[in-house]
Amino acid sequence: MKKIVLGNWKSLGDTASNAVLLAALAAHPPAAGVEVGVCVPFPFLTQARAVLEGTAIGWGAQNVSPFGAGAYTGEVHAGMLAEFGCRYALVGHSERRQLFAETDERIADKIDRLLAANVRPVVCVGETLAEREAGGWRETLGRQVAALAARLGPEKLSRAWFAYEPVWAIGTGRVAAPADIAEAHAFLRERLMALGVPAEEVVILYGGSVKADNAQGVFAVPGCDGALVGAASRVVEEFIAIVAAAG
Ligand code: 13P
Repeated sequence: MKKIVLGNWKSLGDTASNAVLLAALAAHPPAAGVEVGVCVPFPFLTQARAVLEGTAIGWGAQNVSPFGAGAYTGEVHAGMLAEFGCRYALVGHSERRQLFAETDERIADKIDRLLAANVRPVVCVGETLAEREAGGWRETLGRQVAALAARLGPEKLSRAWFAYEPVWAIGTGRVAAPADIAEAHAFLRERLMALGVPAEEVVILYGGSVKADNAQGVFAVPGCDGALVGAASRVVEEFIAIVAAAG
């Protein structure tokens, strides 16, 4: 199965550094069978599209409104992302769950809006360090996917992609061990299957301190379809090396 590499720029970048990064990506097309995209802050979507249009590399957003068009000040709705040519939008990133009080219900509504607009939701799930240390990571993952399934139903959920992002591995330099990634991905597929989602076909990425020097190990994990890369996706040589490792 082909590998997927998505960059999450988070709230980073400016037009000058983006121009360098995007030009380098466009000049290093991924190997056949590798899918690559960058999820950028809203103001940079035009810039990403201008450089990446006509290349194999896609672009997307990091968030979306749970509502449609209307009087929702400050929101960007899924139809707007579709018009921008966004291939993906991240949903439910742990930073949004923790800092912006996003609930599973809100996340489900965002997934629903994205699916209706034909933009691929990339749904982030994962446990905190306290939950892992207390042995409760299965409970957290199980609760997160069950809440989404309850609101969306299995058919819709089967069209989303997932990213297993243990919170303790994000921005810490502490990548999860291959065995832990394999176990969590297998558990997620098992839970999704139990919820009626044909989970052997569902895409599940791993995210959390993926770098050039550990990417090959992540891609080799059974059941891991690719990586969602944060900090290293803003460093030209790092991201290009990660994309190369996926080929
Ligand atoms: P880092 O790669 O910076 O750890 O971030 C991972 C992440 O949050 C991707 O969404």
